[in-house]
Amino acid sequence: MFSPICRHQSGMMKYILVTGGVISGIGKGIIASSVGTILKSCGLHVTAIKIDPYINIDAGTFSPYEHGEVFVLDDGGEVDLDLGNYERFLDIRLTKDNNLTTGKIYQSVINKERRGDYLGKTVQVVPHITDAIQEWVVKQAKVPVEDDGVEPEVCVIELGGTVGDIESMPFIEAFRQFQFKVKRENFCNIHVSLIPQPSATGEQKTKPTQNTVRELRGLGLSPDLIMCRCATALENSVKEKISMFCHVEPEQVICVHDVSSIYKVPLLLEQQGVCGFLTRRLDMPMETRPRRMLTKWKEMSDRSDRLLEHCSIALVGKYTKFSDSYASVIKALEHSALAISHKLEVKNIDSANLELSTLQEEPVKYHEAWQKLCSADGILVPGGFGVRGTEGKIHAINWARKQKKPFLGVCLGMQLAVCEFARNTLGWADANSTEFDPDTKHPVVIDMPEHNPGQMGGTMRLGKRRTIFMTNNSVLRKLYGDVEYVDERHRHRFEVNPELKSHFEEKGLRFVGQDVEGERMEVIELDDHPYFVGVQYHPEFTSRPIKPSPPYLGLLLAAAGKLPGYLVKGCQLSPRDTYSDTYSDRSGSSSPDSEISELKMPSLSNE
Ligand code: GLN
Repeated sequence: MFSPICRHQSGMMKYILVTGGVISGIGKGIIASSVGTILKSCGLHVTAIKIDPYINIDAGTFSPYEHGEVFVLDDGGEVDLDLGNYERFLDIRLTKDNNLTTGKIYQSVINKERRGDYLGKTVQVVPHITDAIQEWVVKQAKVPVEDDGVEPEVCVIELGGTVGDIESMPFIEAFRQFQFKVKRENFCNIHVSLIPQPSATGEQKTKPTQNTVRELRGLGLSPDLIMCRCATALENSVKEKISMFCHVEPEQVICVHDVSSIYKVPLLLEQQGVCGFLTRRLDMPMETRPRRMLTKWKEMSDRSDRLLEHCSIALVGKYTKFSDSYASVIKALEHSALAISHKLEVKNIDSANLELSTLQEEPVKYHEAWQKLCSADGILVPGGFGVRGTEGKIHAINWARKQKKPFLGVCLGMQLAVCEFARNTLGWADANSTEFDPDTKHPVVIDMPEHNPGQMGGTMRLGKRRTIFMTNNSVLRKLYGDVEYVDERHRHRFEVNPELKSHFEEKGLRFVGQDVEGERMEVIELDDHPYFVGVQYHPEFTSRPIKPSPPYLGLLLAAAGKLPGYLVKGCQLSPRDTYSDTYSDRSGSSSPDSEISELKMPSLSNE
């Protein structure tokens, strides 16, 4: 249980609304997660709600080309990838209702209307939609998100998009009303804005910020903190100007300039007194220990700046042009690389370029792709849908298997590893998944009963499911700490055909993990290979900076040539690689996040 010293005295839920101005995509989610992190480091229980003003019910039907990865929660919720940031930064587990969309709100109001709950009244945006938004937030904020089952004390609410968008109006209006309902000391607003610095003059420009703050005020919300995203640190004169024109004290203007790792952002906020300001503003008298927390965070961030040894992983995917498409996969690789003190280099390869058709049409692309693949220390084939590029992935897997390159296949990656083995070792030349060839004579990957073709969304095996290890003779089991089972998150419609299991096992591809009923193949491992592992689930969704996901850690260890030593030492990292302090110590700090991707301004010329 948490110590009572840590809990703020009033017992009232504290809400922090994070809004954005000028443009989207400037790191609002990272800033909101960082605010939550510094409050959690004071010993508070912090939860998060992400509001997406689009009309989709959830992110399940999104194209990775347009929206980036679909993040999956324990309860099977398919949500915006920002929820992943909250889970990783705050080391919490959220549920699908922590992601609120216009679609969900309207659906709930329309359902009520059909049930006759509004007693014949006209149902309107104000007050019915706005009331429903407030009720949703109040209810969801109380849901425990940590293993201790304690009700959160602080709820960070991130409103997607930018203030002034038509879609976000009902939400802004809901919070305008909400601030009076919950009282001033329980609600505050952080507005994230942009300070452009056009190269012609090199001057930091405040006008867009002045305009967005004016717009926010016009809608009835006043920022308590204005967080300014800028390429370089804010000059004092600029800070004073924002303070004067935006009607706030200079201490309420916070500079969030570009940094080499997003994991430095909580430090940056803390250095500018954000924690002290929020605890005063929200009347949360408590013992804060920012110093101790800062030391730990600094250690992690210094380590990420100091990495000398490199390790390269080929990410053989489909949506390689848009880095957000594999956001959690890349984070999981980063967590593992940092844990073994290696600088990660991700080599993105469009799998279609590994196919012979590319050799004929665009030979340079073909050779470049193969050059990248062959020079990588390890190979990862992530999850995916649709036939395009699957043959290229199979070529990559074949190469990894034969050349004994460390390989991890995730979901589709595992299914294709089974297809590859069937074709090239069992000699079933047409072996395939029925997703790609419904008429194959060797259906090694087949439809699951849950799959309901013709209906999009909600037809998959989703969320947390148990995998039982069938044998002690399993690298992955050892990496997980020699456990009997693991609970990991799933998102798939197809599965390995269990009837063909013995054919594979005879030739050395073993199904070492299965579901509770023993019907679903969850983990494959290949004998006589440094690391050839496939998992039907998505371990990347639960990877944390100081608790890297074991399948990913195994890949990185093998790629860096350290796996045998690690296994011999009983899965202990060498002293050089371990962090000097424990991060799970609530009295001192929350788990800091070592998300080492940069926080960088989008290039304005592309806007
Ligand atoms: N397309 C495959 C399936 O539906 C794999 C899904 C995935 O990789 N998430 O089973």
